[in-house]
Amino acid sequence: MSATSRQTPRPRDGVRALTGYHSPQVDVPVRLNTNESPYPPPDDFLAAWLGALRTTPMHRYPDRATSALRERLGGHLGQPPERLLCANGSNEVLQALLLAYGGASRRALVFEPTYALHSHIARITGTEVVEGGRRADFTVDVDHALGLVAAHEPSLVFLCSPNNPTGGVEPRATVDALLDATDAIVVVDEAYGELAESSCIDLVDDERPLVVTRTYSKVWSMAALRLGFGAAPPWLIADLEKVILPYHLSAPVQLAGTLALDFAAEMKDRVGRLVEERARVSAALRAIDGVRVFPSGANFVLVRIETGAGEPTAPGDRGHATWQGLLERGVLVRDFSRREHLTDCLRVTIGTPDENDRFLDALDAVLAGTRAHEVIA
Ligand code: PMP
Repeated sequence: MSATSRQTPRPRDGVRALTGYHSPQVDVPVRLNTNESPYPPPDDFLAAWLGALRTTPMHRYPDRATSALRERLGGHLGQPPERLLCANGSNEVLQALLLAYGGASRRALVFEPTYALHSHIARITGTEVVEGGRRADFTVDVDHALGLVAAHEPSLVFLCSPNNPTGGVEPRATVDALLDATDAIVVVDEAYGELAESSCIDLVDDERPLVVTRTYSKVWSMAALRLGFGAAPPWLIADLEKVILPYHLSAPVQLAGTLALDFAAEMKDRVGRLVEERARVSAALRAIDGVRVFPSGANFVLVRIETGAGEPTAPGDRGHATWQGLLERGVLVRDFSRREHLTDCLRVTIGTPDENDRFLDALDAVLAGTRAHEVIA
């Protein structure tokens, strides 16, 4: 093929239309934009992991069935290992679900605003996305959900609890109502589940098509390693294993996931600290005029900037100007201000007490600056 007659290859139409998933990584002193744990893993964990790596036969493929990890994790969760699939982050479990049960002429139901990857991966796999809404306080209305299930007969229904980016926890009754009303797979994404007061993980049994996904990226302080898992009936796990690549989970990651469970008490302690800080930051934000704070069961808080930054010329200007002002003061949060349903909203990850103070001080300064500007104007 000559250089002049060559056509640039193009992906299929569904992929061409996608914009990709972006969360800008900017090098600033206080990074509160991607919901990681602010604490590195315990030193003793790292020592145990590095020691175990030295005796791992690196010239051999890893355990394809991830048996040791599933055994230990099952014990930790109170679930038999046959109900677990471990993968490279919970995103890979979500992808496996859509590869196995989504695809052409199938539908996935999501409730916006929610975690963008549910609909993004659905589209990549050619699955049609049905977008339900939420109430003004961002909870899912069960009747609305059941109506959409009846009208669209989706193959998968995605819930997210606590919901990213709004923070709310889905009542278990909503999950039960959906499972009663449909044969669809109900996915409850619990990436932040350890930080919430209630979880659906114990609702997983051998029959009902319920999948609960979780991750080591957040409270387990292992975002760099990429490890997550799904809990589901064994017949469903068997379907997911059909679409997962062989030897997908590296030996170092399997080891890390197993050894981390020896440090469950430390992790519980960190969850306690984050939950305390979440309450402190939320209370401080609630005390600021013109800032609306949404209740959160996660390691982040969603706020809406309702006043300040002068008269906005376009929806989202107030939130965006506040995000910019924070960034100029060295604090990066997630800007949802121009996203549908989330006008003027910013999502702030809970960091260390010091990082949280720096965020609160920066926000005070930004809002004081814009109010002074309003008075002068
Ligand atoms: N689900 C939700 C709701 C999340 O917020 C995230 C992380 N942003 C994930 C899943 C992905 O987590 P992991 O790192 O395990 O792929």
